[in-house]
Amino acid sequence: MTCDYSDRLLYGSRLSAEIKQQLHEKVEKYMQAGYRVPHLDTIVVGDDPASMSYIRGKRKACEVVGIENAVHHLPGSASQEELEDVIHCCNENENSDGILLQMPLPSQLDANHAILMLDVSKDVDGLHPLNVGRLYAGEPCFAPCTPVGIISILDAMGVKIEGARAVVVGRSRLVGNPVARLLQDRNATVTICHSKTVDLRSITKEADILVAAVGKAKMFDHTYIKEGAYVVDVGINRMTDGHLCGDVDTEDVLPYVNKVTPVPKGVGPMTICALMLNTIHSYEMRLGL
Ligand code: NDP
Repeated sequence: MTCDYSDRLLYGSRLSAEIKQQLHEKVEKYMQAGYRVPHLDTIVVGDDPASMSYIRGKRKACEVVGIENAVHHLPGSASQEELEDVIHCCNENENSDGILLQMPLPSQLDANHAILMLDVSKDVDGLHPLNVGRLYAGEPCFAPCTPVGIISILDAMGVKIEGARAVVVGRSRLVGNPVARLLQDRNATVTICHSKTVDLRSITKEADILVAAVGKAKMFDHTYIKEGAYVVDVGINRMTDGHLCGDVDTEDVLPYVNKVTPVPKGVGPMTICALMLNTIHSYEMRLGL
């Protein structure tokens, strides 16, 4: 007899739909009160398929929430000057609430220099070093969208983060490190693991909350999981047959976890949702709402 563990799957897509609906209602009220439309500028260089898919998802989310979305699409051969001219225009636009600089940029461009050009108050993806520094100093800031989405998922799971033993596997600038910081801000006891970690399994086995952000298909089976753990699968890996899968072997861990996020429909939709949250937050700050 096979057991049905489907209630252990935590769909970010459902939560994201709820949050976008709430944001939509908020925006409707602002429109009725006569305020201007919230505005997001997206800058994308080249035609990277993953980036284009993300841009499409974001466009749909903006439509649902009621955010005006201007996409500035530069050719893959664009120069640093051309890119920075567009950033400058977005910075200067008084009606713009957020600027999303889609990564990765083509190799001829200096991403760090471009990020430094962003108006920090519109940096809704939390890329600018000032926002990174503020995050680590515990000051108000825009935190990167994926980590913000992950914390929202844990909150929706009803996870008690305070006091929990959290293990984050991955230490990237946009995912692993900032999510570890946000978990620590919420009083979890956090361990960050990476490719040089010795005996990874013995560490993840102690995790009440496990965040897998590595980029290796189905790396985490039940032997890495503490019974009753909450598992957030950030990884997006494309299999040879074209299907997407996460870093966690979902089927294998289901009998052991309390909850696990699936891939797709887990963290991905919440990343876009966090971008909507950050943009509306910026809009409210700019208009003093
Ligand atoms: P990076 O490649 O920047 O970082 C991967 C991290 O995993 C590194 O810190 C690396 O360690 C660590 N790592 C690699 N191999 C191992 C291993 N065998 N054991 C332990 N740690 C290991 O990736 P990102 O953080 O940008 O993304 C991670 C995954 O999340 C990817 O699949 C990406 O596609 C996905 N992603 C999903 C998003 C979403 O919205 N769902 C958003 C962003 C990313 P070291 O530092 O030592 O090299």
